[in-house]
Amino acid sequence: MKETNSFKSKLNMDMLTDQFLVSMIKEQTTPIVQDIEKALAAIDNASSILISGHIRPDGDSVGSTNGLLNTLRAAGKIADIVKIWDLPSQAEFLNPEAGIEWQEIVPEKYDLLIVVDTSSPDRFLNEKHKLLEKFKSNSKPVLVIDHHGTNSKFGSINLVSHAPSTTYLITLMLMNSHLPLTKEAFKFLFFGFVTDTGGFAFSLDNPESIFLMLKLANHYDLDPWFIYRKAVREKPYTVMKFVSEATISTKLITPPELPIRTAICSVPPEMLERYNLKNEAVAALPSHINLIQEADIAVVMSAEEQDIIVSFRSKETDVQKLAVELGGGGHLRASGTTIKNSTLQEAEEKIKKAIRKLYS
Ligand code: AMP
Ligand code: MN
Ligand code: MN
Repeated sequence: MKETNSFKSKLNMDMLTDQFLVSMIKEQTTPIVQDIEKALAAIDNASSILISGHIRPDGDSVGSTNGLLNTLRAAGKIADIVKIWDLPSQAEFLNPEAGIEWQEIVPEKYDLLIVVDTSSPDRFLNEKHKLLEKFKSNSKPVLVIDHHGTNSKFGSINLVSHAPSTTYLITLMLMNSHLPLTKEAFKFLFFGFVTDTGGFAFSLDNPESIFLMLKLANHYDLDPWFIYRKAVREKPYTVMKFVSEATISTKLITPPELPIRTAICSVPPEMLERYNLKNEAVAALPSHINLIQEADIAVVMSAEEQDIIVSFRSKETDVQKLAVELGGGGHLRASGTTIKNSTLQEAEEKIKKAIRKLYS
């Protein structure tokens, strides 16, 4: 086992002078303390670590990969991110690392694979490249850190728990470690938390987490409102125009056609082309369409080659089961799926059929 400098330093939590905050972190950690210990032991035992997030990365994926990268490198370890996709533009202000191209990765170089914010192996292009098997067949550990209700626990070690964001689980893990949780790393972790909570706006089972993350932002002397603005409040002019057109084209479907009032927004490729936007811009739509008061389910569909990428959001309804019914996954009020070899029209019919089946 390689001993790194970080392990001689004090526990991160001990640096805090606010005892209320310390007791809060302890309370939040209690239900997952054993998994955190296993995860930290795996990191402790590794001197070179490969990190992966998920395809079509969001703020939580970028925040998790880059937050870990920063901390692990500051601990004197070799750490790299696998690049499997372009980064979302709202993360640019943090100068994240996109990582090393998938083709150039030498898995044998690493002692540990950490997969973050990813509910199943197919969500990191694993089917094609078998990265997971390469680690497992060499008896190397795979640590999965994730907060999706539908996570299949595909690691040899799984820190998988219901939480507002994956970066929140990583924050709890690092606060309970001697690893250097740098300001730079925490910036990324905070960013992931802000994006996955819709800027502290989504209903959470665990509102204390907001207090805790804001207190830590204060401890690290960050401007939380600047990160909040950059992460969720600003969009480029062309994206705003695109969002407007997509909203105008959104259909509101009410009973008796569907048992639950549903807003369906379908984005044909030519709509994106007209604004000279990439598919990534579609990510601006789901939370926006979910603002429609008269609908409880929001559906956003876009085409990518032969497939239809679908996002579900809701105000009350469990849309996790809707995504699972259609072969995807996610959370109770934010989920998604990919409907393969389909047109937008066919996908819409499939989704409507599933809504009738599940909620009638
Ligand atoms: P999105 O609508 O892409 O922002 O995704 C919302 C949530 O659903 C995220 O937590 C995703 O990880 C999850 N999700 C989206 N698409 C899929 C899929 N095809 N399979 C599993 N989970 C998904
Ligand atoms: Mn994510
Ligand atoms: Mn997430």
